[in-house]
Amino acid sequence: MPDRTIYLDHAATTPVSPTALAAMLPYFGEIYGNASGIYRQGRLAKQALEEARRTVAEVLHAHPSEVVFTSCGSESDNLVLRGIMWAALRAGRGRHLIISAVEHKAVLETAHQLAELFDCEVTELPVDGYGRVDPDDLRRAIRPDTALISIMTANNEVGTLQPIAALAAVAHAYGIPFHTDAVQAPGHLPLDVQALGVDALALSGHKFYGPKGVGVTWLRSGLSLVPVQTGGSHEGKRRAGTENVAGIVGLAAALREAEDLRPAETTRLLELRNRLLDAIPALIPNTRISGHPHERLPHHASFLFAGIEIQGVLMGLDMAGIAASSGSACTSAAQTPSHVLTAMGVSAADAVGHLRLTLGRSTTAEDIEEVLRVLPPLVQRLRRLQSGNW
Ligand code: PLP
Repeated sequence: MPDRTIYLDHAATTPVSPTALAAMLPYFGEIYGNASGIYRQGRLAKQALEEARRTVAEVLHAHPSEVVFTSCGSESDNLVLRGIMWAALRAGRGRHLIISAVEHKAVLETAHQLAELFDCEVTELPVDGYGRVDPDDLRRAIRPDTALISIMTANNEVGTLQPIAALAAVAHAYGIPFHTDAVQAPGHLPLDVQALGVDALALSGHKFYGPKGVGVTWLRSGLSLVPVQTGGSHEGKRRAGTENVAGIVGLAAALREAEDLRPAETTRLLELRNRLLDAIPALIPNTRISGHPHERLPHHASFLFAGIEIQGVLMGLDMAGIAASSGSACTSAAQTPSHVLTAMGVSAADAVGHLRLTLGRSTTAEDIEEVLRVLPPLVQRLRRLQSGNW
């Protein structure tokens, strides 16, 4: 076994940065108070919480009172979809929700559960072969009873970016709030909610070198929301539960750092990533890039290898010390193929040959060359084995 892992699954999670870890540590030790306490320990925790809220608001170009801390990206998406749709149902403002067909399951399953249990109606917008939503399709899907539109900023499986500002502008032309799951964006894309023109946005700490188990829902002030988690008046009565102060402090430090490093890291990673996008299809026959060739996350490379199940490739890469993923939960032909690839028109047979390589701060040019050395013979060998021609 090689002694160093080449970690190329940064879209799945990232290590906690030393900066974020150092910021968090006091809140596991000497500053342990409940942020609701009126004594000194509680006040110190509350100060840290509010400082973190200001930091997040600053990065988002928002007001601190609009920032709600949650337990993860999934909860952030759940809170927006359920909270806004329940508020709309209560006010008789509509029961129709529009999402895209390539959303993360945190949006997709929540939308369909709203339809099943709360008599909402969901429209899933189609995407093109790159996974992009057409703003004209959104315009055509809007109805008088549309209460919310939710379209992700960047896709986790194929890296494709959505034209968020254009989509949000369509929503606003009809007075409908627009949410974006921006979980994959921090450190890679600008997060200015005013420039994007969105009304709600979801983030998750562990995707940008912060800790796991903490997320953010940003909600433009004035947006009506029914809390999903009840039992206390925390987070401006929008999310009950004693705040995870250490996690929140770590998330804020990590978000600030990711935003500060963004210009330099984006340039560095784009170059390394483009080497993969150029070289892999050239070195491995019957291979194509999945997702958009350039309207994609700068650290994200993904490919479809014809005639192969990716599981064997992932195991072979792991044995060579390279951590990669298929980008979706299901890879076996016996299981349902990825809903993202299916929506993009990829056949079930091809979808099982999907590989995602997502780069990060630890990635070097040598790592990329090592992947280019290991991957082509591995794919070719497994193709021969899986086709029985060996
Ligand atoms: N949305 C997107 C686009 C994601 O990639 C993920 C995580 O993979 C989530 C939501 C869920 O985030 P979390 O793991 O924090 O629940």
